[in-house]
Amino acid sequence: MDEILEGFERRDQTALARAISLVENQRDGFERVLAHAYARLGKDGARRIGITGPPGAGKSTLTERLIQQFRGGGVRVGVIAVDPSSPFSGGAILGDRIRMQRHTTDSGVFIRSMAARGHVGGLAAAAREAVRLLDAGGRDRCLVETVGVGQSELEVMRTADTTVVVTTPAAGDAVQIIKAGILEIADIFVVNKADLPGAAKVYRDLKDLVRQTKGHAAWQPPVIQTSAQTGNGVDELVEALDRHHDAIATGGELERRRRERLRAEVEAIVVERSADRARRALHERTMEDELAGDLRDVDPYALAERILNPNGQTGR
Ligand code: GDP
Repeated sequence: MDEILEGFERRDQTALARAISLVENQRDGFERVLAHAYARLGKDGARRIGITGPPGAGKSTLTERLIQQFRGGGVRVGVIAVDPSSPFSGGAILGDRIRMQRHTTDSGVFIRSMAARGHVGGLAAAAREAVRLLDAGGRDRCLVETVGVGQSELEVMRTADTTVVVTTPAAGDAVQIIKAGILEIADIFVVNKADLPGAAKVYRDLKDLVRQTKGHAAWQPPVIQTSAQTGNGVDELVEALDRHHDAIATGGELERRRRERLRAEVEAIVVERSADRARRALHERTMEDELAGDLRDVDPYALAERILNPNGQTGR
């Protein structure tokens, strides 16, 4: 444990990886590691950037481009690649897919994949804690990449300050976005594969969609065409990321998002721990006496209350 914390202090990649594993699996001492991380969070915090979109949209290729850009500016980067549909975690499944091997010798880049299993509090909580560790470990930009637009992806995206939704010229993508309710969380839209036919139409559709639904919002999500393959448009994306960061940082929105995130986190911990305590109480309480006599005398609600509050407070 001390070894992890010391390594963490030196910004050692291995220690960071071990700390994330410890926290992800909630092994003994994970709270100490998190508390340590809390004490070391950057003053302004790392910028947390979420990237989501359907499989094959080019998120990984784009992430690689972003890493190059950030590294070019001397910025330290952490990537958490989340795959809610995969049972594998900590391994190289997504990491490989991201094809960022060329960065593995660069100590300014840390990449980690994370999957559904292995975290009691859920994937979003695991991603959030991993990002916190990256932040505390001195990363200036934390990218959280996730596949698809389902419920767990939306939850994962709530860990980000800025959410980028990636689509492609493939038919129907724009419509799917509305269906999945992802419009609400999108801060920036990217039409990737703009080198393929049909990109201009998706671009126009998304522009219309933003105008119709966010016409009066303080932040109008920009729509940016990129080709992750050629690198076209990536500058523009980086610029949009900066603009969004500035917009939410100056308007107090960043604080609000972070406060809400923390509130949701505390709530989740309270719910999880209460359930744990209830299970422990049930384990100790067999209900043998109550269930020994006439079952018609048993009021299940009253009995449940007595088990939860043996000292008589009703808790309501
Ligand atoms: P992900 O599943 O969203 O992470 O998508 P990937 O980054 O793995 O990309 C899926 C496929 O699309 C790969 O074969 C990429 O080479 C290709 N691809 C990614 N970006 C572009 C692009 O801008 N243009 C074209 N033509 N292909 C791309």
